[in-house]
Amino acid sequence: MLDSVKRTSVYQPEQLGLRFPEMPDFKSPEEQRLHLKKRLVAACRAFAQQGFDYGFAGHLTVRDPERPHLYWTNPMCVHFAQVRLSNLILVDHEGRVVEGDYAVNRAGFVLHAAVHEAHPDIVSMCHAHTEYGTAFAALGQPLLPISQDAAAFYEDHVVIGDEAGKVAVEVKGGHRVANAFAGVKAAIHQNHGLLTASRHGIESAAFWFIALERCCKQQLLIAASGQTPRLVPPDKARYSREHVGSDYIGWLHFQPIYEHLVATQPDMFT
Ligand SMILES: [Zn+2]
Repeated sequence: MLDSVKRTSVYQPEQLGLRFPEMPDFKSPEEQRLHLKKRLVAACRAFAQQGFDYGFAGHLTVRDPERPHLYWTNPMCVHFAQVRLSNLILVDHEGRVVEGDYAVNRAGFVLHAAVHEAHPDIVSMCHAHTEYGTAFAALGQPLLPISQDAAAFYEDHVVIGDEAGKVAVEVKGGHRVANAFAGVKAAIHQNHGLLTASRHGIESAAFWFIALERCCKQQLLIAASGQTPRLVPPDKARYSREHVGSDYIGWLHFQPIYEHLVATQPDMFT
């Protein structure tokens, strides 16, 4: 848990008494569960706003605080814009729904379950079949450090060629993908799409997913221009990643998105 008194980032104000997002302290697992479920719903709504829906494809997961082998996720065949507290489902490693009324996207869940199982430190993941991310994934190339924003992913993402383009319904395939996810926050799955993971919470997993899609779009725009981009040098890209690419920064970026959704979409928590 982040210390809300000690400054975690250069972005935090040094003077006390100013309004600034702070990590809550939870008095009970129930309180923590409700908190993360609300953020999961908001992350789904944010994905809808970004146009990340593609039929029933796409899933966001977050571990339950008391039962880390179980994950809260969005229900199958419900548009991201219609995910709400009351239709979230709780699913186990095998893709069995243990709480909730809706089915799980079992085929898609294979990848999430495999990554979560192989990496106990990964508490949350996001995946969707987005327009630019999927186009970029066809290149089988990593993101270039073309900006400060893209530098957040410098040496912090992988391109996974394994199982490329094959629908992930087999558990073994999921395990092969999971192995590539060690120590990074994002993956570009060739011929498939984007995945992000967080060791902190759904907020940073969701924000880094939005950021990754945007970086893919920007790199494709540059490629389409026919111009050669000037890249951020490796030492400066690493410096930027350390300062603007952390789970904390992802969490912080998600705060205005969350607050805006709470103010404009009151049905989220029904
Ligand atoms: Zn997929």
